[in-house]
Amino acid sequence: MIDFTFTENQLAVRDMAREVAASVVIPTIQEFDRKHTLNPELLPAMAKANLLGFCIPEEYGGMGMDYISLGLACEEMEYADTAARVVLSVHLGLFCMSVLTWANEEQKQKYLVPAAKGEKISTFGLTEPAAGSDVRGMQTTAIKKGDKYILNGEKMWISLANVADQFLVFAYHDAEMKKKRDPHGISAFIVERGWKGLTTGSIEGKLGVRAGNTGWISMQDVEVPAENLVYKEGAGFKIAMFCLDQGRYTVASGSCGLIKACLDASTKYSHERKTFGVEIGEHQLVKQMIANMVKGYEYSRYLWMKAGVLKNEGKRNTRETALAKWVACEEAEQAAHSAVQIHGAYGYSDEYPVERFFRNSKGAAIYEGTREVQTIMQADYALGYRKDKPLERELPIVGQE
Ligand SMILES: Cc1cc2nc3c(=O)[nH]c(=O)nc-3n(C[C@H](O)[C@H](O)[C@H](O)COP(=O)(O)OP(=O)(O)OC[C@H]3O[C@@H](n4cnc5c(N)ncnc54)[C@H](O)[C@@H]3O)c2cc1C
Repeated sequence: MIDFTFTENQLAVRDMAREVAASVVIPTIQEFDRKHTLNPELLPAMAKANLLGFCIPEEYGGMGMDYISLGLACEEMEYADTAARVVLSVHLGLFCMSVLTWANEEQKQKYLVPAAKGEKISTFGLTEPAAGSDVRGMQTTAIKKGDKYILNGEKMWISLANVADQFLVFAYHDAEMKKKRDPHGISAFIVERGWKGLTTGSIEGKLGVRAGNTGWISMQDVEVPAENLVYKEGAGFKIAMFCLDQGRYTVASGSCGLIKACLDASTKYSHERKTFGVEIGEHQLVKQMIANMVKGYEYSRYLWMKAGVLKNEGKRNTRETALAKWVACEEAEQAAHSAVQIHGAYGYSDEYPVERFFRNSKGAAIYEGTREVQTIMQADYALGYRKDKPLERELPIVGQE
């Protein structure tokens, strides 16, 4: 039996996110979306409101909140703009939650504590120019030399790449295993901005998430101390998949915020706009689009909350999280498509926000596992081709809510 009643603390996190979204994101979003840049005030505002580490335990600089709070915060941020939710996805979901689970105590003190306090911005670099869905096709190498690993390779499409201070990156530590595409040859490392040979840049001309930073990381003979290997050699693939369990959860819940934004904009406009002597909301075909948004919003929420409850209990949740992500992203794309339609020609201009919602909705069907990858995963679970084994590391039970 799942209890969907929110506690006072969960609602306090939601309100904190709502406040940052309302005061920092919404008033400036059109400007920064047009400029294709991240609002420089966003990360400091999120840090000040403790939004960058709230579900990390207090002993590591966070507030010890749970996964339901994380989902609620993602909904609020993406209600304002997808780029604002992406910050939670990469910094808190993909980096902090994963470092909390897999890193050793010294690594947590050095990298997790400043990240949770919002002093160091963090991100996750898995994708490469020629390897996205096909993770095993990565070309980056980390060859051990004495007490260092020498990293060479390029990471591409990395959120916050040009802004982050620290990066969780993945590379083959074994050239033979790379040739055989053996996932046991992949390891995870934490690397820092400022290290010789590491450069970053931004990708220009994106379709959506324009008010965010998406970029590349280039590593040319970057000397990474051996103590920055996360967990152990060969655990990188498993860690990357674990990271995606966290990231997909934030995308699923964030997408519900996007659906709600489409719904609110569409109902408002349906009352304002009149055709043939009545509000357009009176037309049955407009009602159908609105009803579908309501349906998509409600059941997508149940799916991320179900995944959140499993996460809170420390239970394996890869299937449920991937399902929540797949469904919410599809519903968000459909809602954004309908929202533009309901706005007619005005939906085709950035005078109204639905044009931005439409562009932003496309990204989630690509990142953190494309729609096709999600589809195959769910079929494989149903067919018994895919089964989750227990993880080597205990899942962190965050928050006591
Ligand atoms: C805005 C944005 C932010 C991102 N942020 C990050 C980040 O922070 N960190 C990071 O590491 N990555 C990030 N990514 C990258 C993202 O995760 C990849 O783009 C994604 O995994 C897909 O990889 P790809 O683009 O190489 O597409 P490909 O893997 O080349 O796929 C191309 C097409 O082929 C389909 N396809 C591929 N394999 C199969 C198959 N077996 N069966 C059926 N169809 C298949 C795909 O579904 C897709 O339609 C981001 C991407 C975007 C757009």
